[in-house]
Amino acid sequence: MDSPANAAVPETTRPRRNVRPWALLVLGVLVSLGISYAAYTLAGYSWSQVVDYKSPFTSMPTDTFTGKRPPLSIAVPDATPRRVVLVLIDGLTDAASRTMPSINALRKRGNDVALTVPQPSLSYPTWTTILTGAPPNVSGVTTNWYEKRVAVESLFDVAAGSGRSLVVAGPTDLDTLFGVSTVATATALTDWPEGGYITNTIVDDAIRLADENSADFVFALFPDVDEAGHSAGAASTEYADVVAKVDADLARLIGALDDGDTVFVVLPDHGHIATGGHGGWEDTVIHTSATFAGPGVKSGTSAVLLQDVAPTIAVLAGLQAPQYAAGLASDAILADTNGRSKDADFVRAIGFDLAYARTLNGQDAIKDIASLASAADLTKVTADAEAARLKADRADRLPMALGLALAALAILAVIGVASWRALVAALAGSATYFAVYNALFFLVHHFAWSLSAFNEESHVQAFFNGRMIEAVIAGLIGCLVAGDIYLLFRPEAKGTRDGFTAGWLSLGAATALAIQALLGLQVAWFLWQWGAQTVWRLPDLRWGFKYDLDLIQMTALAGVALLGPVLTYLIGRFHPRMVKS
Ligand SMILES: [Zn+2]
Repeated sequence: MDSPANAAVPETTRPRRNVRPWALLVLGVLVSLGISYAAYTLAGYSWSQVVDYKSPFTSMPTDTFTGKRPPLSIAVPDATPRRVVLVLIDGLTDAASRTMPSINALRKRGNDVALTVPQPSLSYPTWTTILTGAPPNVSGVTTNWYEKRVAVESLFDVAAGSGRSLVVAGPTDLDTLFGVSTVATATALTDWPEGGYITNTIVDDAIRLADENSADFVFALFPDVDEAGHSAGAASTEYADVVAKVDADLARLIGALDDGDTVFVVLPDHGHIATGGHGGWEDTVIHTSATFAGPGVKSGTSAVLLQDVAPTIAVLAGLQAPQYAAGLASDAILADTNGRSKDADFVRAIGFDLAYARTLNGQDAIKDIASLASAADLTKVTADAEAARLKADRADRLPMALGLALAALAILAVIGVASWRALVAALAGSATYFAVYNALFFLVHHFAWSLSAFNEESHVQAFFNGRMIEAVIAGLIGCLVAGDIYLLFRPEAKGTRDGFTAGWLSLGAATALAIQALLGLQVAWFLWQWGAQTVWRLPDLRWGFKYDLDLIQMTALAGVALLGPVLTYLIGRFHPRMVKS
């Protein structure tokens, strides 16, 4: 590439007029911008796949194997139709529930139930699981942005359909999700409290309506504890104060409705982290407790999944369980079978589980099932079906994930071929990036890879924007380190004034690309494990959260591809070793 004008200049001192470094620089920046755009698109796609998830299970024919379910109007044979009072205290932690005399009194004469809540541990998905027995992947309710009628049958539907007098008191969301104003005999619905306290009104309404309508099934939802959790955190005195107020109102409700023949069930939908927030997998969020007390309840302790609550309540009430309940009525909570109610639930669960397995793996999915005689057999049917489907999904996704990983490695290889010193420097810059970004995330903000980090839905956008800004800051620090490391490997460093302008600019772009490539390897792993699409189950949401953050970082690193070269250029121009002469 020698031009005639400087052909006479000796080889060693002549500035290079080589087009190749400039071409590599332009290519590097363009590739980084392309990765940024692709990552942004993929993040949006994966996010909406979870938010707009369409369950394949809500319309599956659960009757196929077990015959047609009798109409709800036909009573379950030999079942005692017991009155049930179900109270949902939104956001009540296990620890807080143990400070409540009203709940402790129920525990003493009933069953202290350890609950495990499915993810995401958000209110709409968990309310739906409590009332339908369907976890989010079955019900299709995956976030609090689900603002329409839930597609699967609820306890309200079976109670009303069986001719019971049903009364519902709580926030208007219950009408949106479960259509209670048309399903129930009577309702008292209030707007979600914004700063006010409404549990006292809800209790007044529930007592009045139960009396006026000789209710067989009373449902009340108390929102105030959750509000206190969000605004002040589960460790705050504000939270404890609201819990004490709610306890007094709950005691009033129990006192008014306890006729010695009523089943009481009190439970939360999820807990809260100490600083406020839920949605994730934290112990205080997903491990909560329910209390069952009254006729038909075995006294003692038990441990069930949240999806087992609805079938268990149905058996206690002498009702059919909601048809799409993935759970099963719990022997550990039930003192008796309530006539054929327990059998009816078991037969229903067989139909559900076989249909679930066939929906996942096709007609042949159930040919190897040996036995359907116990709860353990049923659990095995669904667990085996999920494991088989996941294995097949991962085999399908492996080539795509490997291709992505190879592309990420190819980017590093190209940098290394262009200059091994630049690759080492860019990797050192990348290590700095990950140290700075993660120190900010985990140590400064005390965040975790958890939906609980948001606290409120309205914080989502600000949260991601904050991480993008920090990714750019961490990336630029990485570029400064890359420049320093590069000089370590260059005993006779050539600066921008020695004709290496393109090289110094490229070091910033190479650092941005190296970070994106290393994030790309992690994204490839996630895509193999869980995929970008949400077809029949939600991804593991801890890794899913990290995956979204990885993509958000890859997006933000376009800023480093554009600004980083300026920093590395300045090092190449003004570093003490560059201004030696
Ligand atoms: Zn909440």
